[in-house]
Amino acid sequence: NAVIGIVGGGQLGRMSAIAAARLGFRTHILTTEANGPAAQVSHAVTCGKYDDPVALDAFASAVDVVTFEFENISADALDLLATHCPVHPSGHILRISQDRLAEKTFFASAGIPLAPWHAVTDLKTLHEAAEKVCLPLILKTTRNGYDGKGQRRVHHIHDLEDAFNALAPHPLVAEGMVDFACEISVMVVRSADGTVRCFDPALNRHWNGILDLTLAPAPIDPNIAAEAVKLATTIAEKLELVGILGVEMFVDRTGNLLVNEMAPRPHNSGHWTMNACPQDQFDMHIRAVAGLPLPHAVRHSDAIMKNLVGPEDMALLPQIMATQGFIPHLYGKKEARVGRKMGHVNILFPYGALPGNLGIQDALGPLATKTAAPEPKEDTAA
Ligand code: ATP
Ligand code: MG
Ligand code: MG
Repeated sequence: NAVIGIVGGGQLGRMSAIAAARLGFRTHILTTEANGPAAQVSHAVTCGKYDDPVALDAFASAVDVVTFEFENISADALDLLATHCPVHPSGHILRISQDRLAEKTFFASAGIPLAPWHAVTDLKTLHEAAEKVCLPLILKTTRNGYDGKGQRRVHHIHDLEDAFNALAPHPLVAEGMVDFACEISVMVVRSADGTVRCFDPALNRHWNGILDLTLAPAPIDPNIAAEAVKLATTIAEKLELVGILGVEMFVDRTGNLLVNEMAPRPHNSGHWTMNACPQDQFDMHIRAVAGLPLPHAVRHSDAIMKNLVGPEDMALLPQIMATQGFIPHLYGKKEARVGRKMGHVNILFPYGALPGNLGIQDALGPLATKTAAPEPKEDTAA
């Protein structure tokens, strides 16, 4: 049986390896963490750093196809792997998604709607940006941001330079702040034969910049949901994607969609599929990477996905385990540091029966307290 190589040893690699095993594949994980989440469930090859050419050569020669869950490997490293065996998604796609400017340029060329944006490298372009995108705006580092890190919100013109100085000297992009009604995401999978499948759009709620809750399906107008699927499909086709990709979007107050960013890998906002769909995002991703047929991305249930973040949520583990209807997925991480994703819980409802806001608090039972408070408004530190 074929061996699938997965670069990155975190929870996304762990759940990909488990899905691959179910489909009859063996997996090799390339990881810097000998006993990390993925290495606990798969054969693992450890390396000092992901871009070490000797480690990459040895890894690629032992597998039949490579994918990745870790986005901070260099695209050049993926290109090196690709000299040994197929790599899905390609280094080309990773290169675009790693850089917010390249990503926005690509989206614009594909006709994908975006919030106004402007590249910022110095004080001159900073002030140009403020004029072009208008206040309030968000300054973001173009690379390496996650969970809202590397961002500053600017509401007043006299705070503009402070925000710039806090993030400099990194290249930045300014984005107009979208007054969104909600945030949604679409998981799109494409196979080498051009088949494209999209899971239903899901609604995402964040806490302290970290994904907290996903509701599936997103309780939005079906026309908006259909448009979101269309945008995700266009992105997958224009990229000639092979594998899975998550697209994050805003729904603005008038019902227009604006794409925020994409991630060419399984995505936290797709974890609800693990229990609400016959083939979940990891299964579909492995199928695409391995050249297996892609069934329709069917959903048989509605679902709430609740992330388990840090020591607060992990303290509730005994209650979580004892709650009827909670389906926990734990990542095998030893230390529950603040802000660290330790696992998630899926809660299922009959198809079409996802509860409204009050019902969601109810359904969350012991996990409800954190989401009852209003979202904090402070900037998230870099
Ligand atoms: P992730 O962990 O999803 O990769 P990230 O660090 O790459 O996050 P973004 O997704 O760009 O950062 O932004 C984090 C959150 O900040 C978004 O989910 C959204 O809530 C808010 N946000 C980002 N950009 C904008 C914007 N232009 N207008 C309004 N809110 C925004
Ligand atoms: Mg991101
Ligand atoms: Mg994001």
